[in-house]
Amino acid sequence: MKINRREFLKMAGASTLLGIGGGSIFELLAPGELEASRKEKPAGQRAAMVIDMSKFGADEYKRCIEACHAIHNVPEIPNPKHEVKWLWTENFGQVFPGHADEYMAEGLVGRPFLVLCNHCDNPPCVRVCPTKATFKREDGIVAMDYHRCIGCRFCMAACPFGARSFNWNDPRPFIKEPNHKFPTRTKGVVEKCNFCLERLADGDPPACVEKSNSALVFGDLGDSGSEVREILRKNYAIRRKPELGTYPSVYYIVGQG
Ligand code: SF4
Ligand code: SF4
Repeated sequence: MKINRREFLKMAGASTLLGIGGGSIFELLAPGELEASRKEKPAGQRAAMVIDMSKFGADEYKRCIEACHAIHNVPEIPNPKHEVKWLWTENFGQVFPGHADEYMAEGLVGRPFLVLCNHCDNPPCVRVCPTKATFKREDGIVAMDYHRCIGCRFCMAACPFGARSFNWNDPRPFIKEPNHKFPTRTKGVVEKCNFCLERLADGDPPACVEKSNSALVFGDLGDSGSEVREILRKNYAIRRKPELGTYPSVYYIVGQG
C-alpha cells in the first residue's frame, strides 16, 4: 500500500529538514512535479529508474542483485573491506539520512532499500576523473572505460552515495561463473552499475528490472510518454540527498512495510 504525502511528511519529520545555508535536504516530488522541474531534458538524454518499494517482496531484492552481479562478473569477495558491489541494500536511514527518526513506521525503518549508482545528472565523479575513465553519455548514463582507470579513486571520494567499489585485489579468482560476454576488471580499477548499457544496446531492459516483478522501471525521463514519466506523474517520489545538487536519476516510491 502506498502512503500519501501527509503521512510521509509526518513520518519523515519534514518540518526539521532544512539544510545548512537554507538548502532543503528534503525533496518530495509530488505527482507531476518533475514536469515543472528545471532539469527537463530532450528525449533520449535522461535515462532513469524508478524503484517502487511497495512492490518489493522478500525475494525480489536478492533476485535483482544476483542477476546484476552474475552478468557483470562482480566478484564475491569474503573480506567486507574489499567488497565489490553494483547493486545492494541498505536501510532507510542510510539511504535517506536526515529523513529517519524514531517515530517512523516500523515497517519502513526495518526494510531494505535497493541502492545503486544514481547516474546523477550533475555527477561529481565525472568532474574529478583525471583520465575521463568516467564519463556521462548522451543518454545520461554515467559510464566507465575500465582501461582508462588509473585507480586514483578521486571518483570514489567525490561520490556522495558510496556507489563505487575499488578492486583491491585481482577480482577474477572470486568470480564463480564468468560471463565471457562482459569484461572482467583488474586489480586497481574502480567499478559501479552501468545501467546495463550493454543490454540496452541490444534492446533489453536492465537485468535488475527484468527480475524485479515490475518493482523497478527503467526509461527515458525526456520522453513525456515513457513509463517512468507516467509513474512519476501519478506517485510521490523521493531521491537521495537532494541538498547536494547531483540530481540523481533514480527515484524511490516509498510504500509502507
Ligand atoms: S551516484 Fe556516485 S558514481 Fe553514480 S553518478 Fe552519482 S556521483 Fe557518480
Ligand atoms: S541497471 Fe544493470 S548494472 Fe545497474 S544495478 Fe541494475 S542490473 Fe546492475
